[in-house]
Amino acid sequence: WLGLTDKVVIVTGGASGIGRHVVTTLVAAGAKAVIVDMNVTTGEMLDGAYCVQCNVTDSASVRAMADTVVQKYGRIDALVNNAGINMPRLLVDVQGDRPEYELNDDSFNKMFSVNVKGVFLCAQACARQMLKQGKGVIVNMSSESGKEGSQGQSAYSATKGAVDSFTRSWAKELGKYNVRVLACAPGIMEATGLRTDAYNEALAYTRGCKPEDLSTDYSKVIPLGRDGKLDEVGDLVAYLVSDRASYIAGTTINISGGKSRG
Ligand code: NAD
Repeated sequence: WLGLTDKVVIVTGGASGIGRHVVTTLVAAGAKAVIVDMNVTTGEMLDGAYCVQCNVTDSASVRAMADTVVQKYGRIDALVNNAGINMPRLLVDVQGDRPEYELNDDSFNKMFSVNVKGVFLCAQACARQMLKQGKGVIVNMSSESGKEGSQGQSAYSATKGAVDSFTRSWAKELGKYNVRVLACAPGIMEATGLRTDAYNEALAYTRGCKPEDLSTDYSKVIPLGRDGKLDEVGDLVAYLVSDRASYIAGTTINISGGKSRG
């Protein structure tokens, strides 16, 4: 139904979490998925997907990645710009006892480097090939916090606001070349690689609660009454990269159980 058989789809950050589930959904739909991640070895296969090691913040690494994919498969039908990092930080640590959880140059630069520069470099490298083909799709992974903001995640949220803005501009630049650019914005997702103990401790500190209290009673804030499943994002992305979504571009689709409305 999706018509993804043999479509070449790059998934950055595809080695874990949401990206890994996007990959398995694409492979099940018959696509030639390519996992692009720091934590893989070029040439290995994971879940039926070819892997290319790449640091998305490094332009030479990203260009080499796109060349490798084109050499192997001859084209790039879609890019899922999913690699991202989140480091919970306060603008000002009012209590002053955990300076490591205050936003500083290093954490700011790291988040903007992966979440914004990485998205830009991968989009540019893949769009060059898509323009030659006269067709392509770029799906950027945003977050509900990009639209809504989030306590303790101001810089992360700002990076996702930038992703949404890139999405709207690139859709305008590339639409006439038959390249669709769009984004999706997950809300609260079940456990992912991001949700390590260290992450939970930092997020809890920035919100003034205990780590074990972070996820109490989601039903109060999520109309569907539960956190999202990674497969649900996989299904959405598979649809968005397919020709079934051929008239969707320049927008960010919420997948948050009804929580975000913007
Ligand atoms: P994750 O930590 O499980 O996976 C991220 C992957 O990106 C990892 O495999 C990591 O190795 C890779 N990566 C990180 N930096 C990289 C770099 N410089 N170059 C190449 N690869 C790199 O994360 P996740 O929770 O699956 O999140 C995936 C995306 O979804 C991110 O953009 C995140 O902001 C977004 N998101 C996640 C949630 C959530 O609840 N998990 C919610 C909304 C949006």
